[in-house]
Amino acid sequence: MPVYKAPLKEMRFLFHEVFGFEREVTSLPGYAEATPDVVDAVLEEAAKLCENELQPLNLPGDKEGCTYENGVVRTPKGFKEAYNTFREGGWTGLTCDPKYGGQGLPKVLGFAVEELVSSANMSFGMYPGLSHGAYNAIELHANDDLKNQYLPKLADGTWSGTMCLTEPHCGTDLGMIKTRAVPADDGSFRITGTKIFISAGEHDLTENILHLVLARLPDAPSGIKGISLFLVPKFLPKKGANGLEAGPANGVRCGSIEHKMGIKASSTCVINFEDSKGWLVGKKHKGMRAMFAMMNAARLGVGVQGLAIAEVAYQNAAAYAKERIQGRSLKGAKSPEKPADSIIVHPDVRRMLLKARAMTEGARALAVWTGMRIDVFVKHPDPAVRQEADDFVALMTPIIKALFTDHGYESANLAMQVHGGHGYIHEYGVEQFARDARITQIYEGANGIQALDLVGRKLPMGGGRLLRRFFHPMQDFLEQNMADAAMSEFVSPLVKAFSRLQQLTLWVAQQGMADPEEAGAAASEYLRFFGLVSLGWMWCRMAKVAQEKIAAKADPEGYYTAKLATARFFFQKILPETAALGLSIMAGKKPLMEMQEAAF
Ligand SMILES: Cc1cc2nc3c(=O)[nH]c(=O)nc-3n(C[C@H](O)[C@H](O)[C@H](O)COP(=O)(O)OP(=O)(O)OC[C@H]3O[C@@H](n4cnc5c(N)ncnc54)[C@H](O)[C@@H]3O)c2cc1C
Repeated sequence: MPVYKAPLKEMRFLFHEVFGFEREVTSLPGYAEATPDVVDAVLEEAAKLCENELQPLNLPGDKEGCTYENGVVRTPKGFKEAYNTFREGGWTGLTCDPKYGGQGLPKVLGFAVEELVSSANMSFGMYPGLSHGAYNAIELHANDDLKNQYLPKLADGTWSGTMCLTEPHCGTDLGMIKTRAVPADDGSFRITGTKIFISAGEHDLTENILHLVLARLPDAPSGIKGISLFLVPKFLPKKGANGLEAGPANGVRCGSIEHKMGIKASSTCVINFEDSKGWLVGKKHKGMRAMFAMMNAARLGVGVQGLAIAEVAYQNAAAYAKERIQGRSLKGAKSPEKPADSIIVHPDVRRMLLKARAMTEGARALAVWTGMRIDVFVKHPDPAVRQEADDFVALMTPIIKALFTDHGYESANLAMQVHGGHGYIHEYGVEQFARDARITQIYEGANGIQALDLVGRKLPMGGGRLLRRFFHPMQDFLEQNMADAAMSEFVSPLVKAFSRLQQLTLWVAQQGMADPEEAGAAASEYLRFFGLVSLGWMWCRMAKVAQEKIAAKADPEGYYTAKLATARFFFQKILPETAALGLSIMAGKKPLMEMQEAAF
């Protein structure tokens, strides 16, 4: 059976020691009650829930999967009870506005809890995850009437949400959407069309499901500029004794569920809207803007799923590597009393473990720092500071989505390799991590599309303003630490990679302006380069704290010494990948485009 222990020590290190949660977040208006003690208590409770309730359902949930019968979808045994525990514990409304019944806690804490949930049981996490995305879109773009009706239901988790974009003929290119919306006399709309691959589209966990649906009005301009967003409940709301209740059915039917590679306990549905009643969210024909609010949050959420799987896969691989005995150390027996040494003595096994670990810890640091920027964006009184934080988050969103999910799959794959043949066998649970992780590279915009978003939208945005939000603070950090001899093993390689990133950015921008295919050819490798430099910055910040603790003789358990060893692995074994990426980027589009289509 797979194991999972919530990485609370890691989270406390980042929240309090590296990034100064109290200074950065508690000090913001509205967060006075989110003290470091509260944060620690919330994380501890979340850890208990995830380790004791959600994780034990992960393997059986994968085996049983969701079932479909006559339009009714059932989640695996135990999911409904676990969802009720989750909901009653207030987890669905953790970061929601108290005005709508939420707890109003910082977004960065929501990120950390999402990680714990997805490590324990990614399929389970899909249900509240999608609801949270729907909550965001309604909160940001719907009118007060819709907000007051629906947000309390999403915050308390009695109703759940979905995101209905994809249709059989279009996933990435949403400009081709065919679902129609026709205005009705009472100000509502009638929605007709078929959506596919809808996560949490139908299930037995909540009383009602709120679909956020992209559709086209009769007078819509063609393409992406003619799409509007609608809120379409499965059951129309009616006033009951205890407020709003699920009323009559609304012509929303689940046609089938997909049988898929992973996240088998998350229902992936075909949803048919048959003249269903819906309400406009945001402005007519501006649906993509409203949906982006949801998609950006969801993209960060998917990045966190990648991080989550990377963590749990690493934990299982490390535990197995200590336990499994096979072969002898190349330097002579380490455990002569046993017939063989643990495989953790072998350099190649250590390579796999450290690769998973160094990327995971760097990624978590970037997630926490970015999460704090979201809180600054939401709460800071100074609009200029808010804008700066928002720019940083916008720049990091495609990087977090693509880099973390590529890593999630890689870490799961490495964990399988560490397990040898046992990694390929269902009951160890490691192959499930790989199967579950794989979708994160595809949904919420495939990773190639994230790279195009970075190169084509985020780099030029505001005349390079977003880039400066990253380049300037990083430059400041490097300058402040350049003279610190103890930090030079980390700072020096990062200075080189950072300077190369700046050159490549200019090169990609110039080439892309002359020929967009050049930017398209560079995009994925450029995103990875950027991502590795971002993690390098995070690793420098972590290493600095670790060094201070060691210097102050505050390392009785060797935690900070291990942190420095992991930092060294990152700078000596992972960051050098940027050199090869740089060469490949500069090779340009020709090696990709010269092949005749017929020759493929
Ligand atoms: C398990 C699961 C859950 C999902 N959940 C949801 C959900 O809840 N709601 C929802 O609406 N959808 C959902 N989806 C759909 C998912 O978001 C899409 O599958 C995804 O966005 C890719 O779309 P596609 O499958 O049509 O691939 P395509 O768009 O056909 O893309 C195929 C490949 O071509 C590449 N490509 C496409 N266009 C370009 C371009 N312009 N430039 C460069 N490369 C390009 C892509 O990167 C990709 O590698 C889910 C899918 C799955 C499998």
